[in-house]
Amino acid sequence: MIDIHCHILPEVDDGPRTLEESLDMARAAVEEGISTVVATPHHRNNQFDNYYADIIENVNNLNNDLIAANIPLTVLPGQETRIYGELAEDLDENEILPINQHTPYILIELPTATFPKFTKQLLYDLQLQGYKPVIVHPERNKAILEDPNLLYEIVKAGTLSQVTAASLLGKFGKKIQNISFKLIDCNLCHFIASDAHNISNRSFVLREAYELLEKEYGSELVAQMKKNAIDLIEGNNIFGYVPERVVIKKKLFGIFG
Ligand code: FE
Repeated sequence: MIDIHCHILPEVDDGPRTLEESLDMARAAVEEGISTVVATPHHRNNQFDNYYADIIENVNNLNNDLIAANIPLTVLPGQETRIYGELAEDLDENEILPINQHTPYILIELPTATFPKFTKQLLYDLQLQGYKPVIVHPERNKAILEDPNLLYEIVKAGTLSQVTAASLLGKFGKKIQNISFKLIDCNLCHFIASDAHNISNRSFVLREAYELLEKEYGSELVAQMKKNAIDLIEGNNIFGYVPERVVIKKKLFGIFG
């Protein structure tokens, strides 16, 4: 399996605090059947900044440490960038690091609560420049939770989306679990990934999530998502079913309310 979003680099964000913790995460990943991960440290999220060149260096170091420790995991460079107005310009400045360095794919995180007004325009501009934005964990954004069709609009306009494995498993609560499945139902999710930060409360659980998806949707969808992850790191085009609007059933008020 390939995990396209995790925080495995030591001492760069709210992921592992030491190299030992990174190696423990790597062992846990291998145990689950993960062979390759994309290290996607936070960038511009008001707490952590991780620039292009630093990430490349940290990934090289970690790969050497993994070889030395005999852990059969490959780490590829990536970055999880919080959306901001000048993001498109900073791609030219070698600040923003696409997945696996030379692909057109960029992981973009929305703020926790809002869907900024400039989002649509920025995602459009990025595509004009030849990049392909991937919104990470849309199911955990409050604005999308309230109006999932915000995601529909941008997916329809060419943006890709990644749902987090733990969300599908209900680890962020029932509401987030429900919307995660709804996004898959409406073809608004192209990838699942771990967004792992440690081996205690934010571990990989990717295999478990794929197993659940297989139970709910069958093996074809799971095979497609796994293939999408390979295509992402190789820079190939990503397959997506035609996105559909999310229909939210209104709650009935009254004596049962
Ligand atoms: Fe993340």
